[in-house]
Amino acid sequence: MSKPRIAHLGLGIMGMGMARRILAAGFPLTVYNRNREKAEALAREGARVAATPREAATEADIIISMVADDAASRAMWLGADGALAGAEQGAVAIEASTLTVAWVKELAKAAAAKGCLFLDAPVTGTKPHAANGELTFLVGGDAETLEKARPVLAVMSKAILHLGPTGSGALMKLINNFLCGAQAASLVEAIAIIEKAGLDRTKAMEVIMNGTPGSPLVKTIAGRINARDFAPNFLLRLMAKDLNYAQQCAQELGVPFTATTAAAAVFQRAIAMGHGEKDFSAVVEQFH
Ligand code: NAP
Repeated sequence: MSKPRIAHLGLGIMGMGMARRILAAGFPLTVYNRNREKAEALAREGARVAATPREAATEADIIISMVADDAASRAMWLGADGALAGAEQGAVAIEASTLTVAWVKELAKAAAAKGCLFLDAPVTGTKPHAANGELTFLVGGDAETLEKARPVLAVMSKAILHLGPTGSGALMKLINNFLCGAQAASLVEAIAIIEKAGLDRTKAMEVIMNGTPGSPLVKTIAGRINARDFAPNFLLRLMAKDLNYAQQCAQELGVPFTATTAAAAVFQRAIAMGHGEKDFSAVVEQFH
């Protein structure tokens, strides 16, 4: 059986790695990116480049979007040039970006109105995991739709977790990221106190890393902070976006959200000081 035709929308840090995995696995691929230059790089590797999301989606069996935020996702899918305007009946629309649950549910309805199937399938893992096909997909939607998408999701991932109906993947991803953001904010405040008080930084960091606070997340970003390597794997402004989206979600559910709201303020301060385009570990830079 021939492989399904894929449209991939969004070629940022994550989307580029994902699209390359799809191409390398031999799926016919059409790509769209707002900044066309990034798409041209993939044309040289065998992808077709579309001028609009609508054009990319035309004749695609599966359409995948991987963009920054709710506004970018809306621009990819809706409107006269959006992917849903070009999608065929029965096509599978997959939203892999980290977005609000409310928007994902609205998008699922818009997809259904066009006769498309829909999955929310955000990912854990970062730039190298995207490049190496080692992401984990957190999927919301019908099990049957997931089976249609599984072959292409599999070439990008080491695990595909079906969490429940539409919105479940989006919610799980926000929970995952607010836990990461809160840990990162606490770590950089700990580092600020260590430095200000003149504690031996190497010894203090060893205590943290070798003790219970030394989670995988804390170890990863402490490594970047020690090396002062803030080349973006995950942009600081996108972590701030996720904390904001998680706050909205908690508010909708009526859950008090004090710890993460404080963490969000730590990230906002870093953005105000000009660190938004760096890796999120650069949240420490506000203390220097
Ligand atoms: P990125 O490098 O900043 O790429 C963002 C992508 O979105 C680019 O293709 C960009 O197009 C597009 N975009 C942004 N605003 C747009 C708009 N208004 N209209 C159309 N396109 C727009 O981000 P990323 O790191 O790949 O992240 C993508 C998504 O995955 C985000 O939701 C992020 O939270 C999530 N995520 C990231 C990581 C990570 O470690 N990086 C891990 C898991 C999940 P241009 O090229 O034209 O700017």
